[in-house]
Amino acid sequence: MAAKRQSVAETLADVTSRRPVLEPVLRAFEPLLSAGHALAGKLADPVREAGLRLPELQWDRAQQGVSLLAGVSLTGIAGPMRQAAEELLPLLTTIEAVAPHADSLRAFFLRPVEAPAESADSRDALAEAVVAGRSIESIARDGGVEPDVLAFVTGFVVSPVLHAMVAAAVPEEGDAPWDTGGAWQQGYCPVCGAFPTIAWLDKPILDDKNAYLAGGGGKKHLHCSMCGAAWKFLRGACPSCGKEVSGTMEMLRETEAARGERLDWCTKCNTYCPTVDLREREAVPNLDALALGMMHLDMVAARKKLRPLRPSFWNMY
Ligand SMILES: [Zn+2]
Ligand SMILES: [Zn+2]
Repeated sequence: MAAKRQSVAETLADVTSRRPVLEPVLRAFEPLLSAGHALAGKLADPVREAGLRLPELQWDRAQQGVSLLAGVSLTGIAGPMRQAAEELLPLLTTIEAVAPHADSLRAFFLRPVEAPAESADSRDALAEAVVAGRSIESIARDGGVEPDVLAFVTGFVVSPVLHAMVAAAVPEEGDAPWDTGGAWQQGYCPVCGAFPTIAWLDKPILDDKNAYLAGGGGKKHLHCSMCGAAWKFLRGACPSCGKEVSGTMEMLRETEAARGERLDWCTKCNTYCPTVDLREREAVPNLDALALGMMHLDMVAARKKLRPLRPSFWNMY
């Protein structure tokens, strides 16, 4: 029997019941997380119609640590990005640091999409730059948007589109292409190259038909919030510096009501990644929502001078 999957709202309600002090923050960001999550489903058709799909995984490139979207053209992504921006900009522009830029952001993201042959669309170039980790400075200047604000907003706008592309490439059952045969060994995302926001240890797998234990569980997976991809990773290794020596990774957790939530941090490079052990929970939480709900541990980590593997919006603004 598959474990129940919690929505963004259910995950945050569960966190709030245990950590009432976080309620105002969680309530403030819930609409944004819920809208992003719903968009990934709504964009399935537009993304396919725009001809956007992940390239086939090539074994030797994967072994060399080249992410699937590295250097890949995202021409046509402007349409789905515009659709995402229509829903997300009204929410994003309520954030204090973003609000003064509402007009320039709307002008940039919501302008009509021209026929591909007309001219190169700077939204396509923007998405490609974000995935490649290149500077977006000149695109921002040409588009009349403050670069820092554009970078922040673009993460939200591109993410549901990438989620839809990943969902189309992952089989309902069985391993994702990058998990097959241990093709991908890196601590960053096999699809978009971003570092993971959260990790999880899986539950034991029960074979329904024969009622025997098909797998003991406890394998570690990393989750990318940018594109929604998940991939298997060595439990004792650091996703940031790759060190795998016994005693490299330490764990930081609350003494009470932890429900499998903890930070795994590296004693060599001082980066950390929130982690949830699903063997200690019944339902499977929405991982992006849970990462937000574990921000009390981010604060503990900051006091210990540890750095997040991937900084998230709640510790950026
Ligand atoms: Zn990714
Ligand atoms: Zn490390």
